[in-house]
Amino acid sequence: MDAPQRKTIVLFPLPFQGHINPMLQLANILHTHGFKITVIHAQYNSPNPSNHPHFTFIPIDEGFSKIADQAATNRDGTYFMRYLNESCVDPFRDCLAKLLLDDREMIACVISDVAFYFTQTVADELKLPRLALRTGSMGCVLAYDALPFHSNKTCFCLTKEDSDYEVSVPEYPLLKFKDIAKISINPQGMGDFATNMFNQMKASSGIIWNTFKELEESALETISQDYPTPSFTLGPFHKYFPASSTSLIEQDRTIISWLDKQPPKSVVYASFGSVAHITELEFQEVAHGLANVGLPFLWVVRPGMVIGSDWLESLPENFEERMGDRGRIVKWSPQQEVLAHPATGCFWTHNGWNSTLESICEGVPMICSPCFADQPVNARYVSDFWKIGVFLEDGFERMGIEMMIKRVMMDKEGDEIRERISCLKDKVNLSLDEGGSSFQSLNNLVDYISSF
Ligand code: UDP
Repeated sequence: MDAPQRKTIVLFPLPFQGHINPMLQLANILHTHGFKITVIHAQYNSPNPSNHPHFTFIPIDEGFSKIADQAATNRDGTYFMRYLNESCVDPFRDCLAKLLLDDREMIACVISDVAFYFTQTVADELKLPRLALRTGSMGCVLAYDALPFHSNKTCFCLTKEDSDYEVSVPEYPLLKFKDIAKISINPQGMGDFATNMFNQMKASSGIIWNTFKELEESALETISQDYPTPSFTLGPFHKYFPASSTSLIEQDRTIISWLDKQPPKSVVYASFGSVAHITELEFQEVAHGLANVGLPFLWVVRPGMVIGSDWLESLPENFEERMGDRGRIVKWSPQQEVLAHPATGCFWTHNGWNSTLESICEGVPMICSPCFADQPVNARYVSDFWKIGVFLEDGFERMGIEMMIKRVMMDKEGDEIRERISCLKDKVNLSLDEGGSSFQSLNNLVDYISSF
């Protein structure tokens, strides 16, 4: 008897590094479970097909490059999300319709990023099941759902001078008003975006989460009640497939041999992800903070990250001589390997969800410096809920930076944090082992897709 033909899953990632990585990791996971993979993708931040010869890639013309360079100056992320949700509709529909016309019987479903909320309507029109991939945390979904984006806009604009700045937000007490002021500079736009996203998640055939049950147990309970569609928590995806093959920027691997020469748990690793920007002044404070502590450090400075600079032009005078061989600056690192390296002592992070999960998986304590969107929520969970990091509360200032690094690297508090995050690391591994919650959830997902 002939073996049954492999069905195809069509994937559609949001074109940013922190979304492409988990989507392509998921693609690899599903491929090893017997599915063929077709990736429809924006031309902006196009993945490199030669890194995935077993997948089919189809670019669509979404025109995002026309506005992408505004990202350093326009801090309203909802503007970019709205643009993508409008510009992708026609090319995505045309592309998917053509695939269905060619071989409807063999296409099982489409999996698209939750932020591409328009895809639900297209999938419904074309009578194809859509699964929604949430690349961020469950806690963040609950926070966004609870926050009064539409009703009380002034609370999103508080400054240090306002008396409520340090106060907990009644709708989501884990967060302070100063945290939600960072989430979006456009609460109305953020509320619209979140409403669209959540409505279409509820309308989907299922939600795939890059998290694991033991980390977000209470959030999962609430989500299961609020979202009637099936949820699959099979993360962290990078534990199945590393991010190196999906990296849009070349990772500088020369630093691994430098790390090999550093004492165990001695290095401060600092990286603020693929999207965040900082001012020249903040950049200089980071440099002074790192240099003043006196510990070895590895610092990722993405080209274009410092507003108004190409790369390192605005470093303090004589900085490179001062740091000598004690510090390394790179454009992009093999982050998962760095976090897994025995020399890495802590991770000073912007708390993108991938970075947060990667740190948990390696048991590396965090110093949290969130910038925007979901990062302030993730950071609060890390510092105040799971207590596996410290929060650099008031921005980049050299004395505060030095103090936080010392708390994690030299104080007893750091040891306690390390113990707690090591426990979580053990839980991740158990959840991925045969019979564990993520292992089970992956099997459920594979069975579910096979039933379409
Ligand atoms: N990353 C990397 N090298 C770096 C910095 C980051 O490979 O120097 C990867 C990191 O491992 C993670 C992703 O880029 O998988 C960043 O995603 P995250 O959600 O943490 O933040 P975002 O870039 O979306 O703000």
